[in-house]
Amino acid sequence: MTTPDGSGLLSPGLGYVDGRWTAADDRRTFPVTDPATGKVIAEVPRMGAAETVRAIRAAEAAAPAWRRLSSGERSRLLRAWAALMIDNQQELARLLVREQGKPLREATEEVRYAASFLDWFAEEGRRAYGEVIPPGLPGTRMTVVMEPVGVGACITPWNFPIAMITRKAGPALAAGCPIVLKPAEQTPLCALAVCALGERAGIPAGVFNVVVGDSEDAAVIGRELTTRPEVRKISFTGSTAVGSLLMGQAAGGVKSVSLELGGNAPFIVFEDADLDLAVSAAVSAKFRNAGQACIAANRFLVADAVHDDFVAELARRAGALRVGNGLDEGTDIGPLIDAAAVRKVGRHITDAIGRGASLVVGGGPHSLGGTFVQPTVLADCPLDADICCEETFGPVAAVTRFSDEAEAVRSANDTPYGLASYFFTRDTGRVWRVSEALQTGIVAVNTGAFSSPVAPFGGMKQSGLGREGGHEGIADWLESKYVCHGGVD
Ligand code: NAP
Repeated sequence: MTTPDGSGLLSPGLGYVDGRWTAADDRRTFPVTDPATGKVIAEVPRMGAAETVRAIRAAEAAAPAWRRLSSGERSRLLRAWAALMIDNQQELARLLVREQGKPLREATEEVRYAASFLDWFAEEGRRAYGEVIPPGLPGTRMTVVMEPVGVGACITPWNFPIAMITRKAGPALAAGCPIVLKPAEQTPLCALAVCALGERAGIPAGVFNVVVGDSEDAAVIGRELTTRPEVRKISFTGSTAVGSLLMGQAAGGVKSVSLELGGNAPFIVFEDADLDLAVSAAVSAKFRNAGQACIAANRFLVADAVHDDFVAELARRAGALRVGNGLDEGTDIGPLIDAAAVRKVGRHITDAIGRGASLVVGGGPHSLGGTFVQPTVLADCPLDADICCEETFGPVAAVTRFSDEAEAVRSANDTPYGLASYFFTRDTGRVWRVSEALQTGIVAVNTGAFSSPVAPFGGMKQSGLGREGGHEGIADWLESKYVCHGGVD
């Protein structure tokens, strides 16, 4: 299937249940739009409870055979899937830009990053070792085997619409768990394209299912995914509000729950920092994906002594970023995902200025119109401003001064969130002290980029439960079974 402008979707643009591309039972569809142009790219099925239940049953039916495959065979299929993603990276990246808006360069990086999760977990699946325990009871032998949790339900957001899928599908499938995926309303086409490549790689019917729908259908699909007895695990990435709702729904069935939720990352610059390095990292940690990332720097805490220099250089760099359609050469910042996102950014800027922050650069809608906004820097922002308390999810950097290390750490931790934090210093003692004191699942020291499939990614406090990536990522999809063998002298 192709889009109205002739570019490929890589899939038939339908749901995928039990190895078949399927329309909604009642044939209803919803439009997927390009956030840069507002134009409809494709119509996708609006699926509901019945289709979701069929997908869950297909996953359950596929589970015994998938689990029985050797770890090497599952690994081979995952690596074939990753290789197809790399072979098709240009087309996948262009689709990602059309559907989500980020610059093509970032979209291509996301496709490679996404494929790397399939590769990494293809190997981790081969090392899901159990244990032999020195017997604690006479006449016994004690072993622990790692077993797949069972059928998984995965729900993913629009901001990294390819990587957030493989970060779940990789460990789930490697562990032996078939899944049903529900991608976000704004980005079903990326999910279906990834699925089509999985089909081509030979992932068997029922092992990877995709149920699509709009935001009205999400609650109906989510209810089935969280309450059907066949589903043993929910893996969700998205907002804290929806994550906590799903956790409540899953509680009745005592299902395993992994949650990758929202953040409010502090970015601390101490007076002894390498300022060039800190500003470069700030630009990528704040403006990548137009600020629409859970790990985006959301509060810049800068030592008094370097505040003005940092703000001046950050504003210069932010003002030079090119805003435009992600498909255009040289674009640094694409559109925001929708009008609601633009309104939130506007509200945060107005509120901060109303509370005494000063506008240094940007500050409003971009002349391109639509959902394009100007990269913005605010200085002397009070910490009770909305922008410091909520995830902004837009290209606005709010800078606040601090006078000493204790104040910086106290302010950094003064939030219900705990996903990522960043800090910049040349003092090794401070590196240890501050990284131990920060209440976040990820601490970035003197760098703005840390995401990698080999390391655990996840949050503390209301930023989530569980970890994706690293060896922890597959542990979330395995259960240990203790087998005690008696009568052995
Ligand atoms: P969201 O509104 O929570 O949506 C995420 C997913 O949940 C979408 O697929 C959505 O479907 C679905 N959903 C919404 N209501 C549901 C319900 N009642 N039952 C079942 N599913 C439901 O979040 P978002 O706006 O798409 O994504 C942005 C958020 O994700 C931010 O807070 C960001 O920080 C977080 N995030 C976290 C990480 C991480 O690793 N910690 C990574 C990326 C993003 P519809 O789209 O159809 O409504």
